[in-house]
Amino acid sequence: MISFSPIRERYPVETRSYEVPETVTEQLEPEERAPLVEKIKCLLRDRKAVIVAHYYTDSALQQLADETGGHVSDSLDMARFGYEHPASTLVVAGVRFMGETAKILNPEKRVLMPDLEATCSLDLGCPAEEFSAFCDSHPDRTVVVYANTSARVKARADWVVTSSSAVDIVAHLAARREKILWAPDKYLGGYIREHTGADMVLWNAACVVHEEFKALELEALRRQHPDAKVLVHPESPASVVAQADAVGSTSALIKAARELDASKFIVATDKGIFYKMQQAAPGKQLIEAPTAGRSATCKSCGHCPWMAMNGLGKLAACLENGDNEILLDPQIAARARVPIMRLLDFTKARGQAVFGTNDA
Ligand code: SF4
Repeated sequence: MISFSPIRERYPVETRSYEVPETVTEQLEPEERAPLVEKIKCLLRDRKAVIVAHYYTDSALQQLADETGGHVSDSLDMARFGYEHPASTLVVAGVRFMGETAKILNPEKRVLMPDLEATCSLDLGCPAEEFSAFCDSHPDRTVVVYANTSARVKARADWVVTSSSAVDIVAHLAARREKILWAPDKYLGGYIREHTGADMVLWNAACVVHEEFKALELEALRRQHPDAKVLVHPESPASVVAQADAVGSTSALIKAARELDASKFIVATDKGIFYKMQQAAPGKQLIEAPTAGRSATCKSCGHCPWMAMNGLGKLAACLENGDNEILLDPQIAARARVPIMRLLDFTKARGQAVFGTNDA
């Protein structure tokens, strides 16, 4: 098992404060749901549109994406799908940075979102101007940012990485003796540093969902289910990652649930993943990792409050009215495209599938 050294003292910046909204999921009466789904299907045909949804969105959206020739995956795979699909309009059910990435890679297409207020604590925790000043104070470092950032932050970066590609890319840069400035997730940054030995300074932000998983309570749950294997996303604290049988991106965790020799799994990532994970591993028992207990605040309780802002009603409205379009400054988008393309070129050259295997 890998050991983790404390990294708190190395944080160079303070945590940014922001409001975490309550997790409110759309409530529809059974008799409302079917006509709404039919209406969306008609609108998708009329508007030449396709749905690309993230694993953490409501299962009704994931199901609708599957039924209508859309796609359910992680953020970059969502963008790749949109890039290759002939639809002129992409409806991105996820959070804002995903819509922005889709727009950066598909500038000629219209990108709509059910709710433009759906954002991400990693994006909120890394404001572009402060981040740019931080980069300026470390001019000797290669700037590597996670996909979960705004277009403006990506535009300031040398590389964009995903959770599945981050270790390989940072190891590659470290082998060239490059020193790294990493943002925004401190836990994923610490995980990468432990696995690469790279010289990294870390921005201080975290995912409100994964930060909430609790090590002591997880140990207790493991004692209750000694036959269960533990699946953990690396945005979680090191004390939780250290208990994992498999650590990885959303797609990697789904694959692990399907392929590992166990009939029971404790899963430390957003519970929205259970819809696809259960399809991939039918008959296996999936248990939510604990977010409550001593010291817990349960800001998210295992489900992203911003992902929860996506619902069938809002999706129908944005399609019907053309609302909530992602619009980006073309210069920012062009600059942000450079480090994203660097990621794609790197993984292609290594024969790795960047799409379908990465992050939140
Ligand atoms: S689950 Fe975490 S990383 Fe993903 S969108 Fe929500 S806050 Fe961001």
